[in-house]
Amino acid sequence: MDVFKPEKLFGIIGHPLGHTMSPLLHNWGFAEHKIPAVYMAWPTEPEKIESFIQTFRNLPISGASVTIPHKLSVMDYIDQLTERAKSVGAVNTLYWEGDKIVGDNTDAAGVSEPLRPYSDRVNKALLIGAGGAARAAITGLKALGIKEICVTNRTAYKAEDLADEFKISFIDWNARGDQHFDLIMNSTSLGMSGKFQQINPMIMDNQNANTIVYDLVYNPMETIFIKEAKTKGCTVIHGIEMFIHQGLEQFRIWTGKRLDEGKARGLLLAQL
Ligand code: NAP
Repeated sequence: MDVFKPEKLFGIIGHPLGHTMSPLLHNWGFAEHKIPAVYMAWPTEPEKIESFIQTFRNLPISGASVTIPHKLSVMDYIDQLTERAKSVGAVNTLYWEGDKIVGDNTDAAGVSEPLRPYSDRVNKALLIGAGGAARAAITGLKALGIKEICVTNRTAYKAEDLADEFKISFIDWNARGDQHFDLIMNSTSLGMSGKFQQINPMIMDNQNANTIVYDLVYNPMETIFIKEAKTKGCTVIHGIEMFIHQGLEQFRIWTGKRLDEGKARGLLLAQL
């Protein structure tokens, strides 16, 4: 009988980790490439981040994904940041370079890659939300060369701070529906399964079939925002696309290998 002997250990830290799909994606990827590795979920409370990094140094852990609430705090305990992590101001991927723990960020690439085929159509974009995902969203939009990026948020000062930091425009929350945009991206929790599921983050009166709607929320797949955008004839991009692309890029960093995007999509959609 063949016994599976993993030689490399990977995992995700976050709190709460709940229904993370990262183990599904990466363990499938290891099997696809016959890499003897395993990827686990390691729920890690906010105050445990320093001791987790100690564990990362002392045990044979090859890499980790980092999610809420550790994406900023982890930067205090690791040795190096990539340029991508510096420009986003957050880390979602850890790997080793010699004896140094490097923090990288694949979220911005996760945002921009699904949008790339449409980016020529986008001059003016609205980003709704100013939390952790918004930082990656702005960096991803800038990487595509989108000229005018506006940000709005329920709590105004957070959007104003982001606008200052990234040199983009601020729009008041109550005025977000007043004009047409080529692209509207939702990075709030509105529309997520649970208590926010029926709340649409946008007022769509001034949008039409020329508007691209990209909802970073991926559970449910068809959010209330995506559904309304479809009734207006908008092009829509689902949040699962960001998840796939940030994950494929992590896999490439850790293994040097690429995964088939279509197969990864099928795997994750079956899970959703
Ligand atoms: P976060 O840092 O907690 O930010 C939450 C954002 O939602 C803030 O802008 C917050 O506004 C806003 N918000 C929360 N409740 C609201 C309400 N009742 N009305 C209006 N705005 C509200 O979270 P995050 O990490 O940025 O994640 C945000 C969303 O992106 C989540 O749904 C997450 O699942 C999704 N996401 C998806 C991917 C992917 O791979 N597709 C990756 C990362 C995140 P205030 O500042 O006013 O509280």
